[in-house]
Amino acid sequence: MTEQPLTALSPKIRDHHLARQALVYVRQSTPQQVLEHGESTARQYALVDRAVALGWPRDRVQVIDEDQGHSGQSAAGRPGFQRLLVEVSLDHVGLVLGLEMSRLARSCKDWHQLLEVCAVFRTLLADADGLYDPVDYNDRLLLGLKGTMSEAELHILKGRLLEGKRNKARRGELLNHPPIGYVRGPDGDYQLDPDEQVQNVLRLIFDSFEREGSLHGLLRYLKAHDIQLPVRPHGGPNRGQLEWRRPNRMTLQNLLHHPIYAGAYCWGRRVLDPRRQQPGKRSTGRTVQRPEDCEVLIRDRFPGYITWERFERIQQRLANNRAAVAALGAPREGPALLSGLLVCGRCGRRLMPAYSGRSEHLRYTCGRAMLDYAEPVCLGLSGQVLDTLVAEQVLAALEPAAVELSLAAEADLRAERQQLEAHWQQRLERARYEADRARRQHAAVEPENRLVARELERRWETALQEQRKLEEDYHRFQRQQPAELSAAQRSAILRLSQDVPQIWQAAGMRVQDRQEIVRLLVERITVDVAGESEQVEVKLQWAGGFVSEHRLIRPVSRYAQLADYPRLCERVEELRQAGCSFAQVAEHLNAEGFHPPKRTARFTGSMVGRLWSGRGLHGPRPAFMAEAGLLQEHEFWLTDLARQLELPVATLHRWQRVGWVHSRKVEGAGGRWAIWADAEERTRLRRLRRYRRHWPDPRYPADLTTPKLRENTQK
Ligand SMILES: [Zn+2]
Repeated sequence: MTEQPLTALSPKIRDHHLARQALVYVRQSTPQQVLEHGESTARQYALVDRAVALGWPRDRVQVIDEDQGHSGQSAAGRPGFQRLLVEVSLDHVGLVLGLEMSRLARSCKDWHQLLEVCAVFRTLLADADGLYDPVDYNDRLLLGLKGTMSEAELHILKGRLLEGKRNKARRGELLNHPPIGYVRGPDGDYQLDPDEQVQNVLRLIFDSFEREGSLHGLLRYLKAHDIQLPVRPHGGPNRGQLEWRRPNRMTLQNLLHHPIYAGAYCWGRRVLDPRRQQPGKRSTGRTVQRPEDCEVLIRDRFPGYITWERFERIQQRLANNRAAVAALGAPREGPALLSGLLVCGRCGRRLMPAYSGRSEHLRYTCGRAMLDYAEPVCLGLSGQVLDTLVAEQVLAALEPAAVELSLAAEADLRAERQQLEAHWQQRLERARYEADRARRQHAAVEPENRLVARELERRWETALQEQRKLEEDYHRFQRQQPAELSAAQRSAILRLSQDVPQIWQAAGMRVQDRQEIVRLLVERITVDVAGESEQVEVKLQWAGGFVSEHRLIRPVSRYAQLADYPRLCERVEELRQAGCSFAQVAEHLNAEGFHPPKRTARFTGSMVGRLWSGRGLHGPRPAFMAEAGLLQEHEFWLTDLARQLELPVATLHRWQRVGWVHSRKVEGAGGRWAIWADAEERTRLRRLRRYRRHWPDPRYPADLTTPKLRENTQK
């Protein structure tokens, strides 16, 4: 392709073209190309000279190069190309220059849009080969053809690349990074990791999955036994070296689904589904195919960790688990007013709504770490108290008085904008006046006085250009201003704000509508709990950036979680010593502002009684309990042990009944139980107490429920 100099005499260029700007559009696809094709970039910038040669003043030539280093097969993600379109459709542009016209846009759709817009606004296009007028039928045809050719070229290029890959894949030779448990051998093929510990962990993972029956069960098992995953990084300073990393859900899931562990080669497992792609998000829309549906599947290509039959069994199991989850129904969008807005103040993860049991009892929990890494739940609180707080705040913000304040602020903004507008008008008027004066001066000079006439003509030109430039800037300013509220809209808003509380409470109001109202006003809610206590700190980030802080009291499950627990105990003790009955103590506590942990009710006599006995303050212990000789080494009375382990007596009784502890009925102690538990056993029982069971496996792990062998035999 040779660059012929274009003369300024091209008949296609008219005054209305020259009166507007010339735009040079510069782009290279990737940063790599920007570096390597410096020459091409220089040629692209040289297009400015071409525009000048075609008759445009240099200061009326604008370069758009925001898209340097953006590869893009469509206009999305290429702000420069979009700006180009905007400028053309604001009627600011007389000529668009690019190195190769059809490369301006990489997809036919974008290209034809550009052609269409240029035709409407009578904008010329120019590249190294020539100058085109999209209004002209022949030029239009040529430009369309160029676009089609360019797209075809791209397609053929891609096709060749892909065909080469496909051929290699059909032979089973197209290999990427080796997955966990494999390394590349000297011949470039995958082989089992030579490290024996790695192989053992891999086998353990498959065994444990089949035993535990679920992905989460597997994750919990690995976490409980502190088993880490062997990873050889694909890059970085430690490339190829064995590292041990904590197991996470995603990696395990990929591992269980990967057919290589059954020795199979698979190509085309991950495909892009355009229907599931989200614009602007690169990694969306990827789906994973079953091995049978892949383009290439070669069984027994590699050494495997499991047999193909076992692999299929595992896939079946995973599919069944998914089906079981689906059968539980889609996550209810119902009562969770704030889902999606809540952020954990401790770790910054999102809180998730969860519904306990069959009931509609809603909790918000920070459970991402639990799901991904089988870590304990970070924090959680009753959904109802939080929903109520936020609803109150939102309704307060929508009260007529508050809305009136906001409208007043909007009026301030409007006044400011009017000032700006007036300023613009003054500038425009001055520019118009200057241009007009230059014209009059030019008209007044004698035509014979050529030197003066030429100078005055130049000044007139400059003034006109200044005026045009200012007008273009003014158009851009206007486009950037947000729409204003009309008087009718303002009064409608005020009228509506009076009705909001009734609308909020209305019977027909769906939770989704309330959610929408909250989302309009609140951008983000940060929740933090002080330790394990009932004190919750809530930060509301309102639309517009204002942050308000609130305190909340959440229901907790145990007295000991209450922040004022020591004070509460002291007070009960005082009142009891002053001779009050439980009922009287309860009355005092309610009057003094104490609350029971659930916060649903006030203190009653029986509640105080339970609190009292739970703390072991129920008078002198029976004489036999203090008697020496009844208990053997490492033996405890059941109630004593329960207190020491901070668990309800009933729970320990249950463990004793099902044989999770060594116990015996002590002769001559009124049928009381003694539990044998040395230090190691007590640690086990504490772990058992802390353990949280998860769907779909409601069992406790056997190692937590099996008592250790008792040395001095007597059971
Ligand atoms: Zn958290």
